[in-house]
Amino acid sequence: MTQEELFKVLVAHCKEYGFIFPSSEIYDGLAAVYDYGQMGVELKNNIKQYWWNAMTRLNENIVGIDSCIFMHPRIWEASGHVSAFNDPLIDNKDSKKRYRADVLIEDYLAKIEEKMNKEVEKGRKKFGEAFNEEQFRATNPNVLREKARYDEVHNRYKKAEDANDLAEYKQIIVDCGIVCPISGTCNWTDVRQFNLMFQTSMGSTAEGASTIYLRPETAQGIFVNYLNVQKTGRMKIPFGIAQIGKAFRNEIVARQFIFRMREFEQMEMQFFIKPGTELEWFKKWKEQRMKWHVNIGMGAENYRFHDHEKLAHYANAATDIEFQFPFGFKELEGIHSRTNWDLGRHQQYSGRKIEYFDPEEGAAYTPYVVETSIGVDRMVLAVLSHSLKEEKLENGETRVVMSIPAPLAPVKAAVLPLVKKDGLPELAQKVMDALKYDFNCQYEEKDSIGKRYRRQDAIGTPFCITVDHQSLEDGCVTVRERDTMSQERVPITELRDLIDKRVNLNNLLRNL
Ligand code: ATP
Repeated sequence: MTQEELFKVLVAHCKEYGFIFPSSEIYDGLAAVYDYGQMGVELKNNIKQYWWNAMTRLNENIVGIDSCIFMHPRIWEASGHVSAFNDPLIDNKDSKKRYRADVLIEDYLAKIEEKMNKEVEKGRKKFGEAFNEEQFRATNPNVLREKARYDEVHNRYKKAEDANDLAEYKQIIVDCGIVCPISGTCNWTDVRQFNLMFQTSMGSTAEGASTIYLRPETAQGIFVNYLNVQKTGRMKIPFGIAQIGKAFRNEIVARQFIFRMREFEQMEMQFFIKPGTELEWFKKWKEQRMKWHVNIGMGAENYRFHDHEKLAHYANAATDIEFQFPFGFKELEGIHSRTNWDLGRHQQYSGRKIEYFDPEEGAAYTPYVVETSIGVDRMVLAVLSHSLKEEKLENGETRVVMSIPAPLAPVKAAVLPLVKKDGLPELAQKVMDALKYDFNCQYEEKDSIGKRYRRQDAIGTPFCITVDHQSLEDGCVTVRERDTMSQERVPITELRDLIDKRVNLNNLLRNL
């Protein structure tokens, strides 16, 4: 299966098994807005819990808050979002489709890179053991030609980005012959800036209403509560504030399922530190966050850092943690050293002093900030896209299995009476009662046991517990493990411990 096909299968699977539905589907949907179904919400909650506990329980100096989506409009002026939270957009006049000009150019560059990599792979096959990649890249005429093309476009693009030169964006698109994938033409409009914030009005009468924004990030809710938390929590620097919540961005091109949505959820932590220590903390949080990801068990090779060449106006260091999605390595989390820019601006715009008196220094300063920011939905997509597999079994059949890391799985155990009679459902209910306080369990008595196993595989349930006639006599049940499909007889009294060992989130946290 190609990566593209896999993605289509994933989207269909998510709908069929109650993970993710298009929003407002009976009205033909709403672009780039998705709802989580009965399975999706459990997975999402588990991810949030893993993050929240890793932040607020494992770090004594990090506390959580829950600030509102609506905030004073001046906050977004102070933060720079009103003037600068823009994307460069361009329309194709023939297809009437809208694109992000920067993304069109970046995709073009990625294609050149792909061509170079293909040449390298050809060389590797041809020369076998004796292949020297570095030498090949430095001498092969095809690679050199592509590299020169790449460098030329890349340099122009970076210059245009730094200078915010929208006319040059368009010129690059035209010069490179980048066409609209729908119309196939190069008939483009000029490039314009487009603000990504949604607006609404607050107030009961139209005259008295004021324009407010749906927050495009949760971070500002943390900054404007800095003084409250620091004072009431008697927090000493260094300390952090964590928050999980919804954010809204009117994305120009919102494709790729839940990767880029207009309403999404973020998990952000702002860590307040002494000026001058930010690069040290930046390095520490880079390591910590990568560890958190790899610890889930989806393969260290599927993650990489991408350090930013161009820094946002408020940052003095920034990196992305990228994950290998079906459509390539893409940003999953951002880690930014934001200096004292945000607190400084809120101090200026609100007129309130936002400072910390450092008893060790005997002086007051505006704290610096290192931020970690991850999209919950992108994390859900990472887990689902990595976990969905179609396996060929020894007997020639295939099975679809979601091998979601067990502590994140929506349902931890399914309890299945072999038949719907002879007292088996009653005993199975007793097993349910014994387990339901500790784990999210599902009881199923319909269809053959084989079909029930397949359904549980498809939603990623780590354990299936079958109650049969012998269970009535010896108090044992058959436990089938999702990934290996191995089966063992286990006394009902030992079930809780057996499941707990594999699915307890605290075991993941202990490894951090
Ligand atoms: P991108 O470059 O992909 O637009 P970004 O750099 O604008 O992302 P940040 O502002 O750093 O993203 O937001 C932090 C995190 O929030 C991202 O790493 C991502 O996981 C998530 N995120 C941002 N925009 C969206 C979106 N439209 N849909 C889903 N998640 C998002």
